[in-house]
Amino acid sequence: MEVRKIHDKKFKIFIPNAEIRTVITGMADKINRDLEGRDVIFMGILNGAFMFAAELIKQIPPNCQITFLKLASYAGTSSTGTVKRLIGINEDIHDKTVVILEDIVDTGITLENIIKQLKGYEPGEIRVATLLHKPEAYLKDITLDYVGIEIPNDFVVGFGLDYEGFGRNLADIYRVVEP
Ligand code: 5GP
Repeated sequence: MEVRKIHDKKFKIFIPNAEIRTVITGMADKINRDLEGRDVIFMGILNGAFMFAAELIKQIPPNCQITFLKLASYAGTSSTGTVKRLIGINEDIHDKTVVILEDIVDTGITLENIIKQLKGYEPGEIRVATLLHKPEAYLKDITLDYVGIEIPNDFVVGFGLDYEGFGRNLADIYRVVEP
């Protein structure tokens, strides 16, 4: 079992790249079937979703738009905690089908925040595609339309996901080894 040190923690291989790519191909097939003929804009959420988005959108026919959004540092606070502002929406998404591309949905708090802000731009429909999902940690009832792999409630890195800024460029996904 390959173990590697990333920053100050040890990780072992969890999902090999070949499996990740197979899963993404399955997601792309389903998206293509479901959304055929629609005016679709894919919105990858930076930084974590960059690899997932790149792999997925290669397998989507070219008549769609692709953009990347980022949750900026704190725009203010609310009763539920800190609200991060979504930046980078330069396209007109009115009446379009938006597909949010996320690396991982854990509690769902981030996703809820993103959807709330996107709704202000009056898209026709918002769908969610996430490479990874931790069902045990999920606190929301937002439908996740396309889920790649459900994982246990462990910390993972690689394929876009980082630990303290490291490990995003790993082709495989690793899981933390408890000391
Ligand atoms: P949420 O709890 O709001 O669904 O997830 C918030 C964010 O936490 C995710 O977008 C992701 O950036 C980060 N996150 C959640 N679980 C993990 C994990 O296991 N590994 C890494 N690297 N980031 C995670």
